[in-house]
Amino acid sequence: MTTSNIINKIKPSATLALSSKVKQMKSEGVDVIGFGAGEPDFDTPEEIKASAIESLKSGFTKYTPTSGILELKEAICEKLSKENNINYSPQQILASCGAKQVIFNCLQALCNDGDEVLIPSPYWLSYPEQVTFARGKSVFIESSDENDFKITRNDIERNITDRTKVLIINSPSNPTGSLYTEKELFEIVQPAINAGLYIISDEIYEKIIYDGEKHVSPASFGQEFLEKLITVNGFSKAFSMTGWRIGYAAGPVDIIKAATLVQDHSTSGPNSFTQKAAVTAIQGDGKATRDMVKEFDKRRKYIVERLNNIDGITCMLPKGAFYVFPNISGLYNRDICGQRVTNSLDLANLILDKAKTAFVPGICFGSDLHLRISYATSMENIKEGMDRFEKLLNTGIAHEG
Ligand SMILES: *Cc1c(COP(=O)(O)O)cnc(C)c1O
Repeated sequence: MTTSNIINKIKPSATLALSSKVKQMKSEGVDVIGFGAGEPDFDTPEEIKASAIESLKSGFTKYTPTSGILELKEAICEKLSKENNINYSPQQILASCGAKQVIFNCLQALCNDGDEVLIPSPYWLSYPEQVTFARGKSVFIESSDENDFKITRNDIERNITDRTKVLIINSPSNPTGSLYTEKELFEIVQPAINAGLYIISDEIYEKIIYDGEKHVSPASFGQEFLEKLITVNGFSKAFSMTGWRIGYAAGPVDIIKAATLVQDHSTSGPNSFTQKAAVTAIQGDGKATRDMVKEFDKRRKYIVERLNNIDGITCMLPKGAFYVFPNISGLYNRDICGQRVTNSLDLANLILDKAKTAFVPGICFGSDLHLRISYATSMENIKEGMDRFEKLLNTGIAHEG
């Protein structure tokens, strides 16, 4: 092997791989229903597209400053102040090609060899790989369905060592949809702050929340929090802009400067006209987002009910994001279509083969007792997918086609 030691440790993104497999099956004429999507199934709102077109026409097609145009950084500061109750200045903002890139840059800026990064599990699958790229060490903090996949103060305290440098939190969570209340969040953030850790708060699902619950940014807890918090957000999920590649971090000046250096020599600034479109998105009335969340909410309730009606499955009603994360361990060791499965990967493969329905195995996110099902797909697809899944489990009849 001639590739580097670091690259040899990196796993490909299982969700991106599943999406390509589903696309491949579809192109071969297989009638497959995909529940792997990590992106809204809605189009980007028209006024956002119009803004990008206008800036293209006006010739706004050159490099921008690495950390983003001032207009965007000011709009982000205004948003963070108004919606999240955090006061930042433009020099504390780094705009990148997505929240994914900005987290990568921050981890590069923060980690020394062997520094430990606390990651509540189940987790978004890019976190541990990004920690590996940064020569850090992921330390997973387990949670389970019993406590809605939330960790506690005690969990944080138990896992801090003299090598711990960073805590990553993601509320609402991908893959579980779990949302911390203000009090719960304070309880886990405070011991991390006391221990001098930096905290990366990935708030990409902040606007996709149900049941009148509210999102809280831990950077708003006070000055000592603000000094250690890196608030990460983006446009992909809230504005259906996954392909535009724009996200940002807000944090302490020195960390933002360091993360900007990483960007200086890797990608340079984000796409110019995407930045203009992002300003339009951030300054809009948010109606498209609210309409999308209403639709997600209907699907959420429906899919959770269908799943809980299946013998052997239990599924929490998530408070945010667009995923459900059912516990399927009750299906292990049963006879399904003549096969016995004992783990999430084999189960997901069996369902894909026999029911032509694509779920993501929980093991990709750190739990082998679960599947991740995205409901960012039409109600019609959800109904059909649940019918096929149920039929496979109840009667062992495979879906032909
Ligand atoms: C989708 C997602 C991201 C990345 O979003 P981009 O802005 O498209 O890079 C980051 N974190 C989580 C938890 C996500 O689900």
